[in-house]
Amino acid sequence: MNTRPMNTLVTGGCGFIGSNFVRRLLADAPMAASRVVNLDKLTYAGNPANLADVAGDGRYVFVHGDIGDEALVGRILSEHGIGAVVNFAAESHVDRSIDSPESFVQTNVLGTLRLLNAARSHWTAMAGAAREAFRFLHISTDEVYGTLSPDDPAFTEETPFAPNSPYAASKAASDHLVRSYRHTYGLPTLTTNCSNNYGPYQFPEKLFPLTILNALEGKPLPIYGDGKQVRDWLHVEDHCRAIALVLEHGRLGETYNVGGLNQCANLEAVRLICSLLDARAPREDGRAHADLIEFVADRPGHDRRYAIDCSKLQRELGWRPSESFETGLAKTVDWYLSNRAWCGEITVKRYARERLGRTA
Ligand code: NAD
Repeated sequence: MNTRPMNTLVTGGCGFIGSNFVRRLLADAPMAASRVVNLDKLTYAGNPANLADVAGDGRYVFVHGDIGDEALVGRILSEHGIGAVVNFAAESHVDRSIDSPESFVQTNVLGTLRLLNAARSHWTAMAGAAREAFRFLHISTDEVYGTLSPDDPAFTEETPFAPNSPYAASKAASDHLVRSYRHTYGLPTLTTNCSNNYGPYQFPEKLFPLTILNALEGKPLPIYGDGKQVRDWLHVEDHCRAIALVLEHGRLGETYNVGGLNQCANLEAVRLICSLLDARAPREDGRAHADLIEFVADRPGHDRRYAIDCSKLQRELGWRPSESFETGLAKTVDWYLSNRAWCGEITVKRYARERLGRTA
């Protein structure tokens, strides 16, 4: 993967995608000599258990803190001689952004701005080959592009931004800030906009882990509206591989769309998960897991369809998703079934928060 032996700052590395990326960086042989520093605020979505298997690795350093703490970020960048920043840290759940948008602006907009400021100061003080090689890679979402009708072509990197939720608006603002730091200050930035991820270590407020864990407990499987919202599902390991490629070979100042080439309606995806569970963990009463599906009131402003045109990433960097939806989904269900301790812990955490009225 990445052939540049450089120390990397990963923000939000205790979350779903960040933890998969940290594990990949550490497992990657050419990076063996490099350090990975994970800066995470440990919000409700951050879970150090996601990286329990690498916690003892001498190349891994965890720092509990906020990307909005510019002084702290500055210290990390210089003390660890950081050569690349990969920014995953964000408030990431659309429903929470509808209930309470302010924390999304705080972290996704102001936090990203302060992270950029710290990176800019650090990079400005660098010289020679280290300065040449420095990278700031911002991880973003296809939701910045808005929503598509059934026959619309997929989002390209040229699609105008039209964010529809406070979450998407805050990510769009952060993307614009990253772009402006390249244009105004020359900071060597890159941005990826990817579609919905699924896979191991995802917090169970998101559709797939929620479905799997509720189904195993015989609880209702809530589906928003008619369940016909189409998403382009991307396995998290394919996403992490794309991020590593962009970090290594992406053209400075560019954005790259990442998509799974797997458009599927939510209801259909949940039914597929149910049939995988029927085969692997049948219900005691012999009924199908899909019988637990319950339609609930739709999310306000719910986008109907996302689809990603990732031909630029394919053409320029030779990336392709390695998982089909069928193989990726089967692997994901198997992972949740064989990591019941992680699921148990996260479920307890989730219930504790529900009792507190989701104040986190
Ligand atoms: P997540 O919610 O699982 O993890 C976010 C992590 O960021 C958590 O560990 C949290 O503690 C940390 N964090 C939050 N605020 C912070 C702050 N101020 N300072 C430091 N750490 C902070 O999110 P995810 O699903 O892993 O998504 C990671 C990134 O990828 C996000 O930027 C998101 O917008 C983007 N993205 C996610 C998806 C997806 O399907 N999950 C799709 C496209 C893009």
